[in-house]
Amino acid sequence: MTPDNQKIRCSLRGKFKKQFSLKKDKLHTLDVAAVGDFVKVDLSNDGTGAISEIEDRKNHLSRKAIKMKGASFRGERFEQVIASNVDNLFIVSSIVKPEFNNKVIDRIIVAGESSRLNTFIIINKVDIDSGNEAGLWEELYTSIGYKVFLTSAKSKIGIEDLRNEIHGKVNLFWGSSGVGKSSILNELFPDLELETGDISESSYKGKHTTVTSILNKVDDETYVIDTPGIREIDPYGIKKEDLGHYFIDFTPFFPDCRFNTCTHYHEPGCAVVDAVEKGEIDELRYESYLNILDTIEDDMNF
Ligand code: GDP
Ligand code: ZN
Repeated sequence: MTPDNQKIRCSLRGKFKKQFSLKKDKLHTLDVAAVGDFVKVDLSNDGTGAISEIEDRKNHLSRKAIKMKGASFRGERFEQVIASNVDNLFIVSSIVKPEFNNKVIDRIIVAGESSRLNTFIIINKVDIDSGNEAGLWEELYTSIGYKVFLTSAKSKIGIEDLRNEIHGKVNLFWGSSGVGKSSILNELFPDLELETGDISESSYKGKHTTVTSILNKVDDETYVIDTPGIREIDPYGIKKEDLGHYFIDFTPFFPDCRFNTCTHYHEPGCAVVDAVEKGEIDELRYESYLNILDTIEDDMNF
């Protein structure tokens, strides 16, 4: 995309392909260029372009690619870049239909924190939240330090607050299937004309391995990245001993753990476990932590 919002179909210059294949064993990454990269493009007469330079990234959000044939050695997993140079990550969920799942939210928060993104939580469908459960989750995540937006795309609640937060930034929207991500984006920016409902589901079936982030310029200074094909994000490159750093409600307790290599699980004298017992850390967050800790592979290559 050019600064004046023109889209140009681009290929990569041969030098990247060569460099990439040479480095492949060390890089453990699947993509050379990603959505959000700033690139230099040489234009051809036919209107297409060739990428000749890719600028260094401020940050990038990625996930573990699925295990691949030919990813030869033990435990090797590749990194799949979802987008780069992102300011804000909006984690979209719904309170019901589908049911709010804090474990999923916590996993995406880890992805956001480890990529140094400003992370926000949207809880949608408050119009059908008869017991005001969304308010309880809002309280939990607000107490940790996350800004929570309670929204209804249907009743047009919370949409304007969201618009103010988005303005002037590069914003990535992630949400699991059916939570109303497309409905919210359409409400914010009708020109996007995203598919909603059952249609959007069926058209992405069978494409689990493709990363399909789409960058949209919504006004002069604001970008929205939609991730329609990406339903799961298993954060890439996180070691067991580092996971705790991405739980910002745990970090104040770390200095009091007896061992500085503490993984806050089985070690004696763990200040995090102590804080959970005293109710200073929410038990649900600690359960999420153990859950993710358990899925980190011991034999990753980083
Ligand atoms: P996506 O898969 O996250 O993009 O979800 P969609 O935007 O396609 O919405 C999934 C379904 O939820 C559709 O049938 C929408 O009409 C419905 N939906 C979206 N937002 C709301 C909301 O705020 N309230 C209610 N009651 N339904 C909603
Ligand atoms: Zn500890």
